[in-house]
Amino acid sequence: MNEEHKRKISLANKGKKRSNEFKILISKLKKGKPSPRKGVKLTEETKRKIGLANKGNKYNLGKHHSIEAKQKMSISRKGKRTLDKHPLWQENPTYNAVHQWLSKYKGKSKDSKCIDCGRTAQNWSNKDHKYKRNLEDYEPRCIKCHRQYDVKKFGFNLLRDDKGRFIKN
Ligand SMILES: [Zn+2]
Repeated sequence: MNEEHKRKISLANKGKKRSNEFKILISKLKKGKPSPRKGVKLTEETKRKIGLANKGNKYNLGKHHSIEAKQKMSISRKGKRTLDKHPLWQENPTYNAVHQWLSKYKGKSKDSKCIDCGRTAQNWSNKDHKYKRNLEDYEPRCIKCHRQYDVKKFGFNLLRDDKGRFIKN
């Protein structure tokens, strides 16, 4: 398809109303397929903008649930706060959520001793690096031993911040 052809199709589709059935069909067809944006290279400028826009967690910022909504949430959660059904549970939990969960059930890493050298631990190190919600997968380590552990495991040194998060560079 040449550029001229694409432009014509694009123009012809502009403002066209799609029926709900059509939208559902398209949605079904596209489910599980990679996004058309996949592999699209972002410019440094775009990345910088996205980064700035995401600074700070703005999720639900300034929004409040009504008392009624809070009561409903409370009732629906009653009896469900077991380890596996913790409200923070997600299939692919984010690092911060995992660490909140860890400090709740295992305590802060600095309250444990590094399992390699016995000094005060500074990180919870994860055995398989998938950050799964299995308490057995996390061991307390000081930053030095954590680094050595990574080197042994991956064969190279990973940069981490003081909380043990990987620093992407
Ligand atoms: Zn250590």
